[in-house]
Amino acid sequence: MLINQKKCVGCGNCVAICPMGAIYVDPQKSRATINDDACVECGTCFRGMSTETLNPTFVRTVRKVAKFLRFRFEPEPDVCPTGSFEMNELEMPRLIRQIFSDPVVEHKSTGIKGRGTEEVKTNDVSLRVGTNEVGYTIEFGRPGVGVKFSEIQEMTRTLAQHNITFEGNNPITHLMTDVKTGDLRADILDERILSAIVEIKTKIDTVEEVLQVVSEVNERIDTVTAVGVSTRCNDSGNDETLAPLLEDLGYNFSRAKTNLGLGRVTNTIKLNKAKESAQ
Ligand code: SF4
Ligand code: SF4
Repeated sequence: MLINQKKCVGCGNCVAICPMGAIYVDPQKSRATINDDACVECGTCFRGMSTETLNPTFVRTVRKVAKFLRFRFEPEPDVCPTGSFEMNELEMPRLIRQIFSDPVVEHKSTGIKGRGTEEVKTNDVSLRVGTNEVGYTIEFGRPGVGVKFSEIQEMTRTLAQHNITFEGNNPITHLMTDVKTGDLRADILDERILSAIVEIKTKIDTVEEVLQVVSEVNERIDTVTAVGVSTRCNDSGNDETLAPLLEDLGYNFSRAKTNLGLGRVTNTIKLNKAKESAQ
């Protein structure tokens, strides 16, 4: 993202709109500037403000005269009066910031499978997590915090040592150079994004170990993480494996969502295997 320095009049309206606190007004120059390291290319400043196309020289003159006469000339708080924001063409590795942080821009050409994931929301038809298995979502970052890929790699590398399976359709897995070690592409490690989700699966007896690992790594990295766990209910619709385990481990949890299994199963390979083992 760029702020056209010839247009900006330093009104400061855009400072509060940036979720990463990346915009500041340089009092010496009376222009807004973007901290490139903090900016995650989310596009909020570009799209989130109304724009006017006032002449910058005119606005600066009026502001100076107003200041001299001890009153203020300020545009409406949600307006960039001179339309100073410009979205520049990005290339990898910086482009990865936009892919993961801007919900509007699509980048099919990169080969990266989106920024989001179905997680286990469709497990009733995808059968990604089977009986006696546990699916995990480990979410990194929040507005105002963000996350660097090097911090995500710290988690994926550590998890890879603990008998887990990375979800193949997840965008972070797609950026791995080696799913056995959890290594991510070296060129993106210094890039910062708004948030990301790592998805893994384990056998039920590994839950305690995995939650311990996530908690330990969370202490070492400079971001926030949130963990979701899920499993497949038995034929009566009850969870008699994961819930008691979490209770024993002292977690205070609630059942967030139950899929009823009314959809058409999309994972026919797993469905056929399940039918075979039931016979
Ligand atoms: S809102 Fe526009 S004119 Fe005002 S400081 Fe930001 S970029 Fe500059
Ligand atoms: S693109 Fe997003 S992170 Fe970057 S300056 Fe604009 S609002 Fe802030």
